[in-house]
Amino acid sequence: MKITYTRSEKTAKNIITFLFKTPQNLKYLPGQFIEINLPHSNPDKLGTKRWFTLSSSPTEDLISITTKFSVPCSTFKNTLLKLEPNQEINISDPMGDFVLPKDTTIPLVFVAGGIGVTPYRSMIKSLLDSKIPRDITLLYAAKDSAELAFLDIFSTYGTKIIKLIAQPLSAKTIIDLTSPNHSHRIYISGPEPVVQSIVEQFKQTSISEDQLVTDYFSGYSKI
Ligand SMILES: Cc1cc2nc3c(=O)[nH]c(=O)nc-3n(C[C@H](O)[C@H](O)[C@H](O)COP(=O)(O)OP(=O)(O)OC[C@H]3O[C@@H](n4cnc5c(N)ncnc54)[C@H](O)[C@@H]3O)c2cc1C
Repeated sequence: MKITYTRSEKTAKNIITFLFKTPQNLKYLPGQFIEINLPHSNPDKLGTKRWFTLSSSPTEDLISITTKFSVPCSTFKNTLLKLEPNQEINISDPMGDFVLPKDTTIPLVFVAGGIGVTPYRSMIKSLLDSKIPRDITLLYAAKDSAELAFLDIFSTYGTKIIKLIAQPLSAKTIIDLTSPNHSHRIYISGPEPVVQSIVEQFKQTSISEDQLVTDYFSGYSKI
């Protein structure tokens, strides 16, 4: 389907949100992602398609993606930066099962490795707009506090926020800082190698695999 670019806004240091008009037939759950196809001349070897979580909530008028810019950046991201208002781009249907459990009594730990915060923005904004209370602790790791995004929405909702700046994120850190018990569901989202390593480390702990829900962001090697 096609979506129409509206505008972008700076969300935090090196992080930009791109907003688009929501097509009538687009339905999604907070936490799901889309594939964007952005044809451009002379693409680098990474090509013209990327997956992005929708950082918007279905309760909002516009849909958005939020991404990080590094130097150098891919030809894909350079093309994203050059989008003009009213320009149409192609996306897939939203997909993915990194979504909230239906049972609102389950206490949640959200672990964000850097830009892995995007699905939590969608989930928490949706809970905030729908006035649904849930017990959520967000452990948010970033290499620089200026790169922390969406803190206003998280605190307005009443999320317990624990910031981890320029420190390693591990299963031990998650357990030490959030004290999960067997009723908790632990969501982990971030660069693929970081999430993979944390999931491996959890195997050596009393937290069971069933308690973990993971979102692997390919294309980034570190937070
Ligand atoms: C399910 C899923 C959901 C996702 N959701 C999101 C999301 O919400 N937000 C998000 O940002 N990403 C998300 N991703 C990852 C996204 O698809 C991209 O892979 C990621 O943003 C990296 O983008 P890029 O490949 O354009 O590289 P860039 O971000 O441009 O670069 C990545 C790294 O490679 C380096 N690099 C890039 N080009 C060069 C070059 N020519 N020479 C040397 N080094 C270079 C950069 O300096 C940087 O360190 C998601 C992935 C999946 C699978």
